[in-house]
Amino acid sequence: MLEDKNQSRTSLSELGEFKLIDHLTKQTVIHHHQTIKGIGDDCAVIGRGEVQTLVTTDLLVEGVHFDLSYMPLKHLGYKAVVVNLSDVYAMNGDAKQITVSIAVSNRFPLEALEELYAGIHLACKAYQVDLVGGDTTSSTKGLLISITALGEVKKEKCVYRNGAKSKDLLVVTGDLGAAYLGLQVLEREKQVFQVNPNAEHELENYTYLVERQLKPEARKDIIQLLADLEVQPTSMIDISDGLSSEILHLCKQSNTGCQLFEDKIPLDQQVISTCEEFNIDSTTIALSGGEDYELLFTVKQEDFPKIKANPNFSIIGYMTDEANVAELVTRGGQKVAIVAQGWNAMK
Ligand code: ADP
Ligand code: MG
Repeated sequence: MLEDKNQSRTSLSELGEFKLIDHLTKQTVIHHHQTIKGIGDDCAVIGRGEVQTLVTTDLLVEGVHFDLSYMPLKHLGYKAVVVNLSDVYAMNGDAKQITVSIAVSNRFPLEALEELYAGIHLACKAYQVDLVGGDTTSSTKGLLISITALGEVKKEKCVYRNGAKSKDLLVVTGDLGAAYLGLQVLEREKQVFQVNPNAEHELENYTYLVERQLKPEARKDIIQLLADLEVQPTSMIDISDGLSSEILHLCKQSNTGCQLFEDKIPLDQQVISTCEEFNIDSTTIALSGGEDYELLFTVKQEDFPKIKANPNFSIIGYMTDEANVAELVTRGGQKVAIVAQGWNAMK
């Protein structure tokens, strides 16, 4: 038996998700020269040929990442695939295969898992990826889903988090904050329902928000668009934890700073009206909300004419040479340090 000589106990919540990963993986040794990029980006990058393989994995836990009282299983299956594919697109790559592993308690009948897989198959069709394997086991409580996605990228097209340079433009696709608000709306409905099971659902005013939460899409279309426009981003990441957190990842890994302009952050009208209704600040939601699965990337200034008029893109700031000085320039012209308040799995 292993003897525990180390009596000290460090709480994981003190550390947070990113420090924990750093701590656990700092002694990682790379044995193969084919391992081009290991831990630290949206995908690992493997292979010395012209075409490289991309690998990414995610684990979703019932009660932590999803709540089946408002997440239909078919949607859950779809979303579980999409969030993985998003990491492949964040490398400027194309997703090709997935594996799916589930741990499931006897609370779930066959029909429930059929629903889950209906969603998985739907995503495979929509994104043209092949389900090629997985694992199935039992759990004492609840449902766990782990998906691994494999993709491909031409070596010279691969985009990492660490390539941003001073003066590069910071660009985001789509709009931000809706998925988080969708979750708030669904949580509120759940509470109403618990008090009064006969209450009418009132979701008409929040259709976009709820859709962004329950049926997110990964931006495969943007990878094609960037290729068509002949724009090669200098760095890229997908927005899973919130704009702040992802900007700080780009800055840290690229050794740059950033100026982000509050008035440039793209918000849907439903996000603006719901924030007013809930009396919360829409900028805070966009910065910290998470689960948007949009792409955040930097481009050289010379690419500005190629992206400026495209409705898919918002230029929200620029990178600076002041390493790790990431600031939000507010509508009033004040500068505020950007801090990561994104979703933290350990809290
Ligand atoms: P993303 O948000 O893009 O999915 P994460 O923040 O989950 O990325 O992970 C950051 C990096 O740390 C990735 O390269 C991921 O593969 C790696 N990673 C996360 N957890 C572990 C772990 N337990 N052991 C080894 N590497 C990990
Ligand atoms: Mg990612």
